[in-house]
This record gives sequence, C-alpha cells and structure tokens, in this order.
Amino acid sequence: MTKRIPVATKRQVEMIDITSEVQAVVQESGINEGYCLVYVPHTTCGITINENADPDVQRDIVKELNKIIPFEDNYTHMEGNSAAHIKSSLMGFSAMVPVLSGRLSLGTWQGIYLFEFDGGRSRSVTVQVK
Ligand code: ZN
Repeated sequence: MTKRIPVATKRQVEMIDITSEVQAVVQESGINEGYCLVYVPHTTCGITINENADPDVQRDIVKELNKIIPFEDNYTHMEGNSAAHIKSSLMGFSAMVPVLSGRLSLGTWQGIYLFEFDGGRSRSVTVQVK
C-alpha cells in the first residue's frame, strides 16, 4: 500500500513530526509485520528519525546544520538554494522502519521527521507499507 501525505511547511529550515500521519497509513494498510518506507520526493527536503520528547533537540540540529552549511558561501548554483540541496543530501531522502504488531517499531523517544530546508512550501511524503 502506498499513500502520499501532504505537508505544509512554514519556515525556511524546520523539522516537522510526521509520525502520527505515517502510523495512520500503517494502520490503514492492515499489515501486521513488514516494513514502512518513508520517502520525500523533493531535492531540498530530507527524512530523519530523532528524539520527539525535547524540542530543543530539533532546535539544536537545525542550528548546527545551518552553521555547518551556511546559506551564503559563494555557491555556483544559480537558484541560490545550494545550502538546502547540500543539507538534503546529508540528511537523506528516506527512512525504513520495521512494522511489528501493526505498528511502527520506533524507539520510545523516536519520531519520524520531514526536514524542510527551503521553505515554506507545500510538500508531500510518500509512505509505502509492505
Ligand atoms: Zn536549487
């Protein structure tokens, strides 16, 4: 089963928790044991799994990524969003999570995040459960 989740991003760089939307697709699929692929088909987004308890973790990740890959650095790409492309490739475009007992088998403190690097925009995430 494959579904597209629409996500509206607001800030230039932000992490958006999409765990409950992904879990809803897993539930709808009726699959008890398998895999869930979460994939973002945009060149300036990423998918990551990280802590969902303390929002300071997300703030620190965003802060450090912006420090490591500055918005301006005499990039050649004419569109002017090279920093976003680089961050996307570093973060990766997908995550695979095991499905056990009909649920995402995430750790207690783990959430699935869409990483926006060139927002705000209308984005979509592809979720495939097998
Ligand atoms: Zn570009």
